[in-house]
Amino acid sequence: MPWTSRRIRPRRAAALVFVTTLTLAVSTSAGTERLAPGATTAGPIAVARSDAHDACLISGGPAVQMSEGLPTPGGYSRSTGTVRALTLMIDFSDAPGSGPALDRFREFFPQTQDWFRTSSYGRLDYRPEAPITDWLRMPKSFRAYGIERGAPFDPGYRRLVQDIVTAADPQVDFRSYDFLNVLVTPNAGPSALDTVLSVSFAGNPDAPVADGVPVANASFVYSRQDDGSGSYAQTGYRVLPHENGHVFGLPDLYTQAGGSAVGHWDIMSEDWGANNDLLGWHKWKLGWLDAAQVNCVTEHGTSEYTLTPLARAGLGTKLLFVPLGSRTGYAVELRTREGNDETVCRPGVLVYKVDADVDTGRGPVRVYDSRRNSGGCTRSPNVHAELSDASFTVGEEFRDPGQGVRVRVEGEDGDGDYRVRVTRE
Ligand SMILES: [Zn+2]
Repeated sequence: MPWTSRRIRPRRAAALVFVTTLTLAVSTSAGTERLAPGATTAGPIAVARSDAHDACLISGGPAVQMSEGLPTPGGYSRSTGTVRALTLMIDFSDAPGSGPALDRFREFFPQTQDWFRTSSYGRLDYRPEAPITDWLRMPKSFRAYGIERGAPFDPGYRRLVQDIVTAADPQVDFRSYDFLNVLVTPNAGPSALDTVLSVSFAGNPDAPVADGVPVANASFVYSRQDDGSGSYAQTGYRVLPHENGHVFGLPDLYTQAGGSAVGHWDIMSEDWGANNDLLGWHKWKLGWLDAAQVNCVTEHGTSEYTLTPLARAGLGTKLLFVPLGSRTGYAVELRTREGNDETVCRPGVLVYKVDADVDTGRGPVRVYDSRRNSGGCTRSPNVHAELSDASFTVGEEFRDPGQGVRVRVEGEDGDGDYRVRVTRE
């Protein structure tokens, strides 16, 4: 079974311990069933589009496990409407849960559903449900499952999921849920500062079956992403929206080099530190943008657009995409400090390349840095600093002479919208 593993060199430590996101996505070839087919509308994630968007529906080759391609293939959880997340808290004989299991639940909720409501403009109604309010004791010790960073689904995780299903089945109808969250007692395994074990198995049709449906999409959270800065209560939940991003089909944007490809511009790149949002490309991929909010820029010549802040709910253009063939293209969006985007220190127009033929964890998205080697504008811990001032401001221009693409920021109007001029030679 294909899986990806990334080992990341610890980043420098200053007053605080700096850590890089080490969670990883493991995905198999796409299946066709969710955890709960029939409970809600079936089928792949619906992307709003018209014929004018055809050239922007990039896709990768068959070897890519988890792609930025659009639309997302079947097998993942739906990401719009009411989505029910079966959430179980588990412990082990050699790592017994300390304190009430619901306290573990409250480390992640309601923050996670609030995060998704904000990021999706209310389009994802995330319902975490914990039908079992106590720790669910696994029949084997934690050590016996052999769970470690990069562990594949077989055999340890398969055994663990099977044991979870067996233990929970008397009290749970798995058909009622879209995906599974497993909140592991934090004392199982290493500190997240040493090794982040948190993982998702997404679009996995070969998973153990519960109540007739495979547990195809499951997110596991271990330990606590506590950097010692005192912000855990505000930021520690953010590993879960990251892991759930995988069950919705999103790839990892960090690479072996850490967060230097995308920085803090997407939670699939960095899920430690202060809050951040998703790229506009991901919002389109997840079905959170209307067709009218996405402009597919195919015609040659120069055209002007008005971008409204990505994080702001409401009408207006949120995303421009300039396709460069069938697999890749440039995305253009306006990022400001609002909504989930708490660390934006230089509001402006972000330009990044999306490559659907590059796999999860290999750099499928690259943000273009308008100020290379500037050191960035943020002082926020666990935020990739260099790319924090990557955005383009009024009067600045992105250029790719090789592809004949230019994006110039023409001006800002009173409502915070930006006018941009895109040229394709
Ligand atoms: Zn991940």
